[in-house]
Amino acid sequence: MDIVDFRKLYEIAEKLHSFLDEEGLLSELLVILKEEYPNFSYFLLLSQTTYKHSDLPVIDLEYDSENIVATNAYLSGIVQYEFSHTEKSTILYAPLKGKQGVYGVLQIIAPNSQDIPTKEVEFMTLLAESAGAALENAHHYQQSRKTILELQLINETSYRLNSNLPLADTLSFMVEQIKSSFNAQEVGFFLGSTEIAKVKILPGSTPFFFLTTAQTYIDYIKGKLNKENAPLLFGDISLPLANPSTCFHSIIVVPLVLGKNLKGFSIIMHEKPYFFSFETFQLLQTLVHHLSLSLTNSMLREELKKLVTTDHLTKLHSRKFLDEKIQSSMNKDNEGTFILIDIDNFKKINDTYGHQIGDEILIQVANFIKGNIRGNDVGARWGGEELAIYLPKVPLAAGAAIAERLVKKVSENSNPHITVSCGVSYWNREEPDTYQYLFKRADEALYHAKGTGKNKVVTQSDNSKAS
Ligand code: GH3
Ligand code: MG
Ligand code: MG
Repeated sequence: MDIVDFRKLYEIAEKLHSFLDEEGLLSELLVILKEEYPNFSYFLLLSQTTYKHSDLPVIDLEYDSENIVATNAYLSGIVQYEFSHTEKSTILYAPLKGKQGVYGVLQIIAPNSQDIPTKEVEFMTLLAESAGAALENAHHYQQSRKTILELQLINETSYRLNSNLPLADTLSFMVEQIKSSFNAQEVGFFLGSTEIAKVKILPGSTPFFFLTTAQTYIDYIKGKLNKENAPLLFGDISLPLANPSTCFHSIIVVPLVLGKNLKGFSIIMHEKPYFFSFETFQLLQTLVHHLSLSLTNSMLREELKKLVTTDHLTKLHSRKFLDEKIQSSMNKDNEGTFILIDIDNFKKINDTYGHQIGDEILIQVANFIKGNIRGNDVGARWGGEELAIYLPKVPLAAGAAIAERLVKKVSENSNPHITVSCGVSYWNREEPDTYQYLFKRADEALYHAKGTGKNKVVTQSDNSKAS
């Protein structure tokens, strides 16, 4: 009975083809072989190092391997024999061959000069072929799964990046995403407005980058990027560290390019050498590219927002912006002061010097206002030659003092010389009030200032005393 048991072979083939992971498939192949031919020993000569950490009897098959017979089997895809005089054994090399290539070689060793009968050779050859085809399937399956996971990651990231989150939230999200996808130990983002040397660490970066120990890495990367201006992959880097206990050997750096300009970079690190694969390197570039686009977009959005909330001539806030700020302050704060400013005899200025100088005067007054208020205060162009300041959480006396300072400053520093008048009103939570009424009181106070000599401040209480 020298005929191969095809029925059995068919059953085995079917079983092997049901495996979707390469490692499981190979270990099943070995189990089957040991059951069938327990006297032989088996090794897997594989071209990839993917199985390095598995329990499989894997030998790395290199092209320049000294085992010429094994290499022949791998390159030709044809079964090879060898008789080892020293070991007194027959060795069979059966290629694990798929449709698109040879994935490795199954090495079968028959001990004690025992010859392997033709029937067995045929069986094992067919088995190896079947395993090769199954291996190819599993390989493709795993490859496509990986691609799908990568696409999902890119998709999810780009979706989150485009959902208008604040910058800090966007970055925290990116850091988490990169940490979990690439098993990175440290993730950092650095961004600057001009040159790479002046970049600052962004919030969301892992705590390590805020330590002085990190500076050695950051400086080294800045230097490299200045020279090379390209993504960097370090497999086993050793920097001269002051504290070598925290030492990262694997580093990937991807530049952040905003609107064609190199504005910063992102770093991921791991202690172990050769931790990040080339695939990770490429995938990180894709993710960072999406982040760059999103940052560019949000910066454009910010600029656009500024454009509509800023007065073109004076670069003060627009009336609309001021309205919104006062409304929201009256909803959430306890008090606030409003100053209405009008240039005195401005008609005459225009008539004397022309409209263009008139415009420049307006800009001068606007700049005095900007120099006279703080971050949360709002300086705005109310309309025409009337300007306004809103001071949230500022009591009347302090607000009036700011108005006085402005009046003085304009009178002393304007060129050509002009003066302004201010009407000041104030609200607090204790009295029912509205924005309209707040404005009306300031307007009335301003009217009194104009009627009583100009170049002065009148507050709503002075005003009520006066009338
Ligand atoms: P008063 O002291 O009572 O405020 O006198 P005034 O001349 O400033 O008063 P009025 O409100 O009658 O005149 C305002 C003038 O401001 C009229 C207008 O020509 C001028 N003006 C308004 N907007 C602008 C502007 O954007 N640029 C220039 N150059 N002039 C403007
Ligand atoms: Mg006016
Ligand atoms: Mg005026």
